[in-house]
Amino acid sequence: MVQVIPIPISFTLDQQEHQLYPVVLQTASARVMVDCGYESNLPLLEAALLEREIAPADITHIIITHHDIDHMGGLWAWKNQYPQVRVYTALEEIPYVSGTRKSLRQAQAEAGYEQLPEAYKPWAQEFIRRHQALRTVVPDGGLQYDEVLPFMPEVQVIATPGHMPYHISLYIPNSATLIAADALVIEDGQFNIANPAFVLDLKAAVQSIAGIRSLTLERVICYHGGEMHTGIYQSLDRLLDQYKTV
Ligand SMILES: [Zn+2]
Repeated sequence: MVQVIPIPISFTLDQQEHQLYPVVLQTASARVMVDCGYESNLPLLEAALLEREIAPADITHIIITHHDIDHMGGLWAWKNQYPQVRVYTALEEIPYVSGTRKSLRQAQAEAGYEQLPEAYKPWAQEFIRRHQALRTVVPDGGLQYDEVLPFMPEVQVIATPGHMPYHISLYIPNSATLIAADALVIEDGQFNIANPAFVLDLKAAVQSIAGIRSLTLERVICYHGGEMHTGIYQSLDRLLDQYKTV
């Protein structure tokens, strides 16, 4: 049986309030943290784990769902503090998480920079600078779509491209639980597509949601917005209907 333990953290960044939902998946043999916040979030994450009686040093694996900085920015700091942790991401994400290939998010920001209104340019410059300065970690292994985690066979890897091309979600059939990461967000109690300005392929994102709709779901955890337990299919259908012409 996999225990699914959300580890929400709240903080202020760039004068904005943020709340992120990393998740710990726990069995008798492994403790897997899914995504790990920004580099500056390390003390918050440690405190949030300890509050739930999980020793940070007991985290055996970290899974990065995609290489956005709010998901993998904290990887270097974590690995520096807890070098025994094993890091996994989708096989195709490895060059991006390793930093050997330029972040697709940074490339997107650079490509759109000239067209930005002047007022947004300082923000975009800081966004790009933060990506350039990012300290990275080379993952220990790559995950394959539609396979189970090698270190936790109760959990399936689901391809949910769109927000980023190699984005993954994690599905636990036994408890009908989905760790959606950024394939979905929850806003005002409803599912939505994570900030469409950051979706690299909207059509793929909608198809991924249709794929999610085909799963048996009793609990969905989103990295932005938290959890949904009831009305899951109604909310998914509403969203699919909203984007049916994409
Ligand atoms: Zn993201």
